[in-house]
Amino acid sequence: MVGTLFIVATPIGNLEDITLRALRVLREVDTIACEDTRQTGKLLAHFGIQKPTVSYHEHNEAARTDELVKKLAAGASVALVSDAGTPLVSDPGYRLVQAAIAAGVTVTPIPGPSAALTALSGAGLPTDSFRFCGFLPAKSSQRRKLLEEFRAETCTLIFYETPHRILDALEDVEAVMGTRPAVVARELTKLHEEFLRGTAKEIRAELAARPSVKGEITLLLGKPAESAATDDTPIEEAVRKAESLGLSRMDAIKHVAKERGLAKRDVYRKLTE
Ligand code: SAM
Repeated sequence: MVGTLFIVATPIGNLEDITLRALRVLREVDTIACEDTRQTGKLLAHFGIQKPTVSYHEHNEAARTDELVKKLAAGASVALVSDAGTPLVSDPGYRLVQAAIAAGVTVTPIPGPSAALTALSGAGLPTDSFRFCGFLPAKSSQRRKLLEEFRAETCTLIFYETPHRILDALEDVEAVMGTRPAVVARELTKLHEEFLRGTAKEIRAELAARPSVKGEITLLLGKPAESAATDDTPIEEAVRKAESLGLSRMDAIKHVAKERGLAKRDVYRKLTE
């Protein structure tokens, strides 16, 4: 009988986020294929799991896929994990899943954390329709080209980004997307978790004022600002429109105040009058 390939999601920071099912599967499988055996070793040690591990990363994917599929075909059970979150989501594994399916092996996903959905659920941007776009390109010219392609998208866009590129990326987002509402979700599930909400320009200014930007970052962009209010729209309506684009009440007030060159308290007073 052929074995089973389990695709096991692991925490994106907070170890309490591992599921009971993930722990059971990791305890029961014959082998754990890991993006980085040292990283997964720490997770397994934390939960007192002793299991043979093999590396499975972008540089040995092809050779390891054949090896693992042979084991699976011979009846072994294998768990695939990445360094954090759900394997295959901007992480290795696609080739192995494809080959396992082709070999008639059962593929069983064990769901759990992923930065994209964790960020989306707390961002306060529309969730009825969204698009996961992976990592933004490292080069500004390529980044702008890609952002141009996404400009007409009206759903929420989700990108992964690195801390050392986020300021440049926000500059490009501002240039291409204008005042489309943005959210930077940083260090999700960790001690210093934070959500920065506003336009790309506002968030960039906030981050640029810090001595450095650290940690893991997911960047989200809400509906395009074309549907945002024009300057002669009554203030109440402008705030409501900004809220409908995904900003919280306070952020919407801040946004409208900034847009019209008013103090926040004046916008607030208008709303309560
Ligand atoms: N497979 C993972 C998942 O399901 O989320 C993603 C792996 S990808 C190589 C790593 C990127 O995910 C990071 O560079 C960052 O953009 C995002 N990310 C991972 N953990 C995060 C966290 N705790 N907070 C915010 N973003 C995170």
